[in-house]
Amino acid sequence: MHKTSWMTSDILNRLNANAGMLLVRSLWEYCPEHMFIVRVEGPAEFVIEAMNPTRRAMLGDETAFIGKRIEQLLPPPMCHGVIANLSRCVECASPIRYEEKGGYIDRNGIYQQGHWQTLLVPITNQEGFVTHLFGVSRDVSVLPGEPAGAYRDSKELERRVHERTAELVATNEYLTHLATHDHLTDIYNRRYMLELAELELRRAARYQQPLCLMMLDIDHFKEINDTEGHLAGDEALRRVSRTILATVRECDLVGRYGGDEFLILMPETTTDGAREIAERLRRTLTQTSPFTISIGIAGLEPTDHFVVDLIHRADDLLLQAKRNGRNRIEYAV
Ligand code: GH3
Ligand code: MG
Repeated sequence: MHKTSWMTSDILNRLNANAGMLLVRSLWEYCPEHMFIVRVEGPAEFVIEAMNPTRRAMLGDETAFIGKRIEQLLPPPMCHGVIANLSRCVECASPIRYEEKGGYIDRNGIYQQGHWQTLLVPITNQEGFVTHLFGVSRDVSVLPGEPAGAYRDSKELERRVHERTAELVATNEYLTHLATHDHLTDIYNRRYMLELAELELRRAARYQQPLCLMMLDIDHFKEINDTEGHLAGDEALRRVSRTILATVRECDLVGRYGGDEFLILMPETTTDGAREIAERLRRTLTQTSPFTISIGIAGLEPTDHFVVDLIHRADDLLLQAKRNGRNRIEYAV
């Protein structure tokens, strides 16, 4: 160890001035570490005189740094720490090493936090005064073996991928919602309602559970449109869907079948149970709105294979409710 360093020094001692200059210049140009030269203007006054390409690549526009005092570039607590180390090096007039945590604004204007290991070397003039300090810094928060900045760049890339994925997930959720929900009432649209209802019917048939389908229609809905306008008609449709959602259980499926017709599929519910809920719905809407509703209720039968079998019966019963004077509920006994 000792021998190696002696040999290295020996080689350096034997370099002629030109070769020494070439060595320093090559290190300055090509070394991946951050190098800088600071001019000493007083015991605690330092001006940035030069930065090597690595440091310039990190900070960007060098005109913003060259010729500037440390306190012009760093905020107070950070600049005091840096100035203290520079002063210490001038005072002892020999190389010093130190570590510090410090932030900087990179070439893209993004604030980066680094953990820096720095070597400061004093440069003296012929009279022996320290006129400049040469610094070599390394960000040890960068992963070993990776070029400086690559770790942060990969973190930035990772962050952007996360951000983009979250955007895509949100867009996908939004598109799925649009494809499955009715735009006016925000309950299930006809296609999705029938898809889900088919699954419920199969489950009920398999486990021999009761299941009911309700078809609901606003009475004389055309009159609302004709006398109060389509916006009032739209509001009536929204009011019905809100009331349905507030009345049924969470496991019940609620969808708009078309126009002013709504479907409610109630798993594990007998016709008697469905009638009670239908009655509550009818009463609530009659009491709170200027219109009434009619409802047809069909219960699952062993001969039903598809939801359309239930829909046919519920639709017939709804028609019967209309014929029997509206504002009423019909069901199969
Ligand atoms: P009935 O008591 O026999 O049901 O009579 P009705 O007037 O309600 O007749 P029907 O159910 O056939 O009326 C459906 C009307 O709903 C016809 C159509 O103009 C209207 N409609 C369909 N979709 C919308 C909508 O999204 N908004 C509005 N405002 N009206 C709609
Ligand atoms: Mg109607």
